[in-house]
Amino acid sequence: MTNYQEAREELFAAVQKARDEGLLRISEGNLSLRTPDGNVAITPSGIKYDQLKPEEIAIVDLDGGHIDGPCKASSETPMHTAIMRNLPEVGAICHTHSPFAMTFAAAGRDIELINLEAMGCGAPIPVAPWATPGSAAGGEVTVTLFKQRPDLKAVLLRNHGVVAIGENAEDSFDKAFKAEAAAQIYYQALQIGEPVIITPPQQQEAFDTYIAFTKKERT
Ligand SMILES: [Zn+2]
Repeated sequence: MTNYQEAREELFAAVQKARDEGLLRISEGNLSLRTPDGNVAITPSGIKYDQLKPEEIAIVDLDGGHIDGPCKASSETPMHTAIMRNLPEVGAICHTHSPFAMTFAAAGRDIELINLEAMGCGAPIPVAPWATPGSAAGGEVTVTLFKQRPDLKAVLLRNHGVVAIGENAEDSFDKAFKAEAAAQIYYQALQIGEPVIITPPQQQEAFDTYIAFTKKERT
């Protein structure tokens, strides 16, 4: 029997960070992490995040079948497993109902490339077509967009929330945080005028500068 303690602790740490940053409220939103044996650790259904214990994180297979743990997996498990099945490079998913991202999801409006946080998500962050929350279709609509644009790390679920993908639990939290920060600033900029979009050459220049900086750091 596989010991899932490490996976549960990694996912729990990301849950705590997402809660601290206001991305997870009450019991809304859910996170998942691919385990080394190819299953999925996922936050449980109906437990408030301020009361969650690591051992309550459920382990399911890629079809959502219960493998381990005392709690039922999140009601949105079919969305997570659909993404994990179709995108083998995804190590973790952070799905939140964070308010500014939800605002754009409700308006059916993309979050444009307006700052570094948006750039970190591969913006523009598109709105996926409507899919019933809790259905596999909710994952499949994001898979289509993620496959079309490999740099894209966050997608808005229309009238629902945001799905962020990452290599590991921390990375998926980071992308969900950036999506919410981008949404907040874009929303605020819309209140005072017309937001200025970063152009492709400016984006390339910023990327090249960052790469040059990271290379310099190593030498
Ligand atoms: Zn949701």
